[in-house]
Amino acid sequence: MGINKKSVPMNEQPPEKRRHNFLEVPLGYTKEQAILEALRCLQCPTHPCIDGCPVHINIPAFIREIKNDNLQKAIDIIHESNLLPAITGRVCPQEDQCQAVCIMGNIGDPVSIGRLERYVADWELENRKKGKVTLPEKEPPKNKKVAIIGSGPAGLSCAADLAKMGYEVTIFEGFHKTGGVLTYGIPEFRLPKWIVEEEEKLFKKLGVKFQTDVLIGRTLTIKDLMENGYKAVFIGVGAGLPRFMHIPGENLDGIYSANEFLTRVNLMKAYKFPEYDTPIKIGKRVAVIGGGNVAMDSARTALRLGAEHVYLIYRRSRKEMPAREEEIAHAEEEGIEFNLLTNPVRYIGDEKGFVKEVECIKMKLGEEDASGRRRPIPVEGSEFTMKIDQVIVAIGTTPNPIVPRTTEGLKTGKHGTIWVDENLQTSVRGVFAGGDIVTGAATVITAMGAGRKAASSIDKYLKGEI
Ligand code: FAD
Ligand code: SF4
Ligand code: SF4
Repeated sequence: MGINKKSVPMNEQPPEKRRHNFLEVPLGYTKEQAILEALRCLQCPTHPCIDGCPVHINIPAFIREIKNDNLQKAIDIIHESNLLPAITGRVCPQEDQCQAVCIMGNIGDPVSIGRLERYVADWELENRKKGKVTLPEKEPPKNKKVAIIGSGPAGLSCAADLAKMGYEVTIFEGFHKTGGVLTYGIPEFRLPKWIVEEEEKLFKKLGVKFQTDVLIGRTLTIKDLMENGYKAVFIGVGAGLPRFMHIPGENLDGIYSANEFLTRVNLMKAYKFPEYDTPIKIGKRVAVIGGGNVAMDSARTALRLGAEHVYLIYRRSRKEMPAREEEIAHAEEEGIEFNLLTNPVRYIGDEKGFVKEVECIKMKLGEEDASGRRRPIPVEGSEFTMKIDQVIVAIGTTPNPIVPRTTEGLKTGKHGTIWVDENLQTSVRGVFAGGDIVTGAATVITAMGAGRKAASSIDKYLKGEI
């Protein structure tokens, strides 16, 4: 029997059911499905998949252990490079990373590396519930303190590596909950909160300390941290400042940034309504502006909260949408109404100041722009209005300026990102940075890769090697 060219599909909640609940959509592989999928891996000696993964997981090795049904060995291999596999197995854009370069992709579907990673990680989480926890090895204490600012994937990965090296690590987080976008951005139906909480417990077991409700730049500054005995600092504060279109009517009531909308739903538990009476407007006719993952998450969340119509308004065509194909397909299946090649030009309010209509213009695609996508051009005279009662603007975010503004000598780039050298050291000696605050909005795994790289540089810095 030859190799199966098609990947093993994963079971999912049916669209008509899941559009009314916040439970996870894909249900994970069974053991039989995982072994069948693992058998598709060719164990290539050149293993391009490893280079396609920003944290270089030994992919063929862990897949081999799935085939052998030795899941303890599989998780140990994954943990050598990635302490958050239940998260990355779910949210990594695998199709652009490890799976994009999988050799099987030349003859059929690439191996479903992310699904297999999730399968192993979920097995381990189940084991942890039974009290079985295997911790990565730790070096002897170095008696040096390192401060991490921000508890998103960049900060968490940096903290874990430094803790394994024997440093005393404290994470300072501005919010009352840790996890960054994993906790307050990505919705429950894509990444259940209990998984983030469970994965974080491992960090605590490694000795990482968390101080929540500490906003660096307000409660304390980087200078205060240094004066309090921290020998190095890592800044992983993300890019959470929402962008707006600056069109007339954008200040009307009922118009949210995606950031505010999703944070309210996630951190204030609106997804458990009516158990939690979260102060959030539940629109009946909701317009979501944008075509990325954040727009898909906002649209699907609004639907689950009870909207009757959710219109996605995007200025390019489906092909140019930056969201993952899987998320776009899920949104379509659930009944999100796509208004493509369309752009809002103004919002119209009622006498009480609440948004009641959006005026849009039709667009056509011109030449490619700097992003490599065809530039959208307005079609003159094609304006039309849509009745809506809520808008969620999901057109991107920029870095939060609070840390750069309160840290003397910290150099920033054109869009407010923090400048770093090849070691991820900023213009202030002993202060390192990584993740979205350096790259602008990117992905969980690139932030994790940066956190790990910064940890290695901090170690070298504290040993006087750089
Ligand atoms: P963040 O995750 O933003 O974490 C930064 C942390 O720093 C936050 O907890 C913040 O509260 C804290 N902080 C900020 N300022 C301060 C301060 N001054 N003092 C103390 N703490 C501070 N990526 C994917 O790979 N796959 C996806 O499916 C995906 N979906 C997404 C969906 C949404 C809705 C959003 C918003 C993003 C999504 N992303 C996705 C992007 C991904 O989540 C980010 O690229 C990633 O979280 C960046 O990690 P980070 O650690 O740099 O920053
Ligand atoms: Fe692929 Fe992401 Fe897992 Fe790396 S962490 S192997 S990129 S799914
Ligand atoms: Fe397996 Fe694909 Fe990696 Fe080859 S490239 S080792 S087939 S996962």
